[in-house]
Amino acid sequence: MYVRPSLHGRGRSDHVALTFDDGPDPASTPAFLAELDRLGWHATFFMLGEMARQAPGLAAEVAAAGHEIAVHGEEHRNMLRRSPRAARADIRRCRDTLVEVTGATPTWFRPPFGTLAFGALWGARREGLTTVLWTNWGRDWRGDSSPEAVAADVLHRDIKGGTVLLHDSDRQSDPGAWRHGLGSLRILADAFAQRGLTVGPLRDHGVRGARVPTRV
Ligand SMILES: [Zn+2]
Repeated sequence: MYVRPSLHGRGRSDHVALTFDDGPDPASTPAFLAELDRLGWHATFFMLGEMARQAPGLAAEVAAAGHEIAVHGEEHRNMLRRSPRAARADIRRCRDTLVEVTGATPTWFRPPFGTLAFGALWGARREGLTTVLWTNWGRDWRGDSSPEAVAADVLHRDIKGGTVLLHDSDRQSDPGAWRHGLGSLRILADAFAQRGLTVGPLRDHGVRGARVPTRV
């Protein structure tokens, strides 16, 4: 399947979009909020509906801090195994939860595991959401990683105009792996500054996003 650069979140070349998946998580998300505040950065948080319902106050806190709220799905289930109707219902339930607990209006969807199932792409579009994946990841789910390794992975591919995938929860990662991603942020701050790149959420990234492909 041909995937447009916009589906991966390729945006304007002087900017990096920073995104966090799988939260909000009381064990780790507050540490990310503190570090982002220290760095003066805003990011996009792709939340899980079931996580947001377990920690509605924290979800609201993320939004109140000026971060962008986005849809990652109700549960972290592979959309390839779901019918279009079930995928759409999952996306809608997550979106409705996020609207309820954060007051934000999500506009982005990222499928769990990044799997481009037709049903999920179709369902997201029917719910008025734009699907976006990522261009750069830190492989921050590995327990044996390190802040330096995460930063090196993020910078391994062209970072100008990139969308960076990290995780503010270890729900799908090795226990404690989020600390590597958290620690990578100060290293990335230096690297981005050296390249003259500003950092922000997807809403500021100038990415048009994806349309449902005619074939998947
Ligand atoms: Zn995820």
